[in-house]
Amino acid sequence: MTVPSEAGPATGETVADHVLEFPGGYTRTTGPVIGRFLTELRDARIVGVRTAGGRVLVPPLEHDPDTGEEVTGEFTEVGPAGTVESWAWVQAPLPGHPLDRPFAWALIRLDGADTALVHAVDAGDARAMRPGLRVRPRWRAERSGHITDIEGFVPEVTRIVSPVRADYRLRPGRALARFLEGVADGVFLGCRCGSCGKVYVPYRLSCPECGVPITEEVRLPDTGTVTTFAINNLPDPRAPEVPFVSAYIQLDGADIPMIALVGGVPAHEVRQGMRVRAVWVPPEERVPAPHSMQNIRWFAPTGEPDAEL
Ligand SMILES: [Zn+2]
Repeated sequence: MTVPSEAGPATGETVADHVLEFPGGYTRTTGPVIGRFLTELRDARIVGVRTAGGRVLVPPLEHDPDTGEEVTGEFTEVGPAGTVESWAWVQAPLPGHPLDRPFAWALIRLDGADTALVHAVDAGDARAMRPGLRVRPRWRAERSGHITDIEGFVPEVTRIVSPVRADYRLRPGRALARFLEGVADGVFLGCRCGSCGKVYVPYRLSCPECGVPITEEVRLPDTGTVTTFAINNLPDPRAPEVPFVSAYIQLDGADIPMIALVGGVPAHEVRQGMRVRAVWVPPEERVPAPHSMQNIRWFAPTGEPDAEL
């Protein structure tokens, strides 16, 4: 059985649309262009093909949709991050959908590509979707050379509320120094705004909402909830392995989340609402401030039921 796809109908043939379903699926050769795309997916890379006019098509096509010309055969790696152009929210996923929880079908233009591909975005909530949302692929651990090697895309961590890493590289201010002192002792120090009552961690000297100075220090527990996360496929000296997960974690009692690694769990099992606890290095290995963030190995799941966000 052959299933024509790219080839058009022969002259005089009557064309009708059919749905062909083969219980075991069917095997069809892909052609070199799609074949290359799928092979790269298996290796967790996304490539596009360049047209004669210099545009990069992702997913690649054998012919330029604008001119009908054959593409050049020059492949270029794109993304893996990209930008959502438009989407449709799926509140009740059906069997066969990529995710079993509400998600968005989105047109995503990967960085370096001139066309958009359709894929699922696991945004957790329809309100998280917006044009221009930055997303990254979440790869399956077992890949076979199929578009579903990308389980879906997840929002990038772009909500920089209090950029701990940037802060202490550029300007280790007094507030952050105090926070790092706390971490050296195995304690998360935050502060409560006397005006609006919000609790900030890391510690800060003034309320970003009210603008008033903050004087009340609070100790927070080392448990919290994952609010958003990103799966990283590039090695990082602080991370145990690739892929690793960086997350915004809202400590219990805090009103804003902080950035940390998540460990002790396969990357694909990390989810929004997951309950976690800081894993501290043993006391004899701890280092003093200002390097004390190293004392937190990562946050690991507590095993409690997920929290409502
Ligand atoms: Zn305030």
